[in-house]
Amino acid sequence: AYLNRIKEVDKTINAFITVDETQVLEQAKKLDEKRAQGKDLGRLAGVPIALKDNLSTRGLRTTCASKMLENYEPIFNAHVVDRLLAEDAIIIGKTNMDEFAMGATTETSYFGPTLNPINQGRVPGGSSGGSAAAIAADMVPVALGSDTGGSIRQPASYCGIYGIKPTYGVVSRYGCVAFGSSLDQIGPMGHSVADLAILLSVIAGYDDRDSNCLPEDRPDYLAALQADIKGKKIGIPQEMLDAVTNPAIREAVQEAAKIYESLGAEVETCHLDYLEASIPTYYLIATAEASSNLARFDGVRYGLRVEGKDVVSMFKETRHDGFGDEVKRRIMLGTYALSAGYYDAFYLKALRVRRLIQNAFKDLFKTYDVLLTPTAIQVAPALGEHLDAVDAYRQDLLTCPVNLAGLPGLSMPFGELDGLPIGLQLIGDVRGDSTLISFAAALE
Ligand code: GLN
Repeated sequence: AYLNRIKEVDKTINAFITVDETQVLEQAKKLDEKRAQGKDLGRLAGVPIALKDNLSTRGLRTTCASKMLENYEPIFNAHVVDRLLAEDAIIIGKTNMDEFAMGATTETSYFGPTLNPINQGRVPGGSSGGSAAAIAADMVPVALGSDTGGSIRQPASYCGIYGIKPTYGVVSRYGCVAFGSSLDQIGPMGHSVADLAILLSVIAGYDDRDSNCLPEDRPDYLAALQADIKGKKIGIPQEMLDAVTNPAIREAVQEAAKIYESLGAEVETCHLDYLEASIPTYYLIATAEASSNLARFDGVRYGLRVEGKDVVSMFKETRHDGFGDEVKRRIMLGTYALSAGYYDAFYLKALRVRRLIQNAFKDLFKTYDVLLTPTAIQVAPALGEHLDAVDAYRQDLLTCPVNLAGLPGLSMPFGELDGLPIGLQLIGDVRGDSTLISFAAALE
């Protein structure tokens, strides 16, 4: 049924880069055999799931929406993919994204933009726009995305679905093509908080192939769905509200706050320092890390090779042809920030400001259990509205500080503006993922 639905609507929406029908039906057949043999079935038995195309899948091409990897087939699975398969989920396909996860609209994809199923003149957000659109258009019930500066939460918000970026280190990054390694996290997207909780309980866990993976046991995310929020404290950072010009979005936050109060939580306005510094800080750190991570795409080891007269010209031609404009812009920015003479002035300074932002959040979590904010500064923009880079970068104002601090963030739909969904964000303390699930479930 889902394959048929994809055939029916994805010609226009363009949420998927790859759907290998034969592989999908084979997985389903194997599951049927397992069932017929009376074997125990996994927690996701038969559940179709879509994966952002930066998650490595053995024998299924993984393009990062780039010409560079157009025909690249990994020889290994990402850690999360193995975990999904171990629970008998069915990988239905790979979703469209901004090239190498760099963008906020899914318009930088080599495979063309994805349309927002709620209003096809709008973008689905990005960079996990394909995953969000596939869910919103019922082409798949659940999906995984990745979030470096907002790429799960912001498209979830624009498409009216749920998404969570876990605490940095809760989910192994092994097999997720690296963008900004100190910021990247893989996370679930779905129609409900329960979908997020189930998926997170499957993909979260220690893996020694990601050196930043947290060693301790993960909490019971499903039990968190039932947990009481009575007596808990919510902070609303005034600066994050002030960043949003449309009053309807600010009102949605206040409305949600009223519901939380009626459920016995305490709500207060609070202050988050250094919010305005988070965009330049994020774009220095993310581009610096990206410039180093993307050095591996040189025509030798992965994907595209364009022959030149010697090996250096081969490197040059390959990178010239293989990368799109936004990726090139970021490699240049990052290389500049890391180069001798500029390192202290840009990269090192950004690291220091990052620590200030972390500390600002730390202070707030001495008082509050969660922070409540809009997910994005606006609802889904029109296609082509944010083609200017600096303008596009501003879209991450409310999400990227969360990555800089390594915190969990959850986006949930709450009301609408001109027929477009509004998303609210819950931000938790380090390892507070289950608290976010409790708060989101209480509002659902
Ligand atoms: N929009 C942000 C960027 O372009 C975030 C991307 C992401 O989270 N992968 O860097």
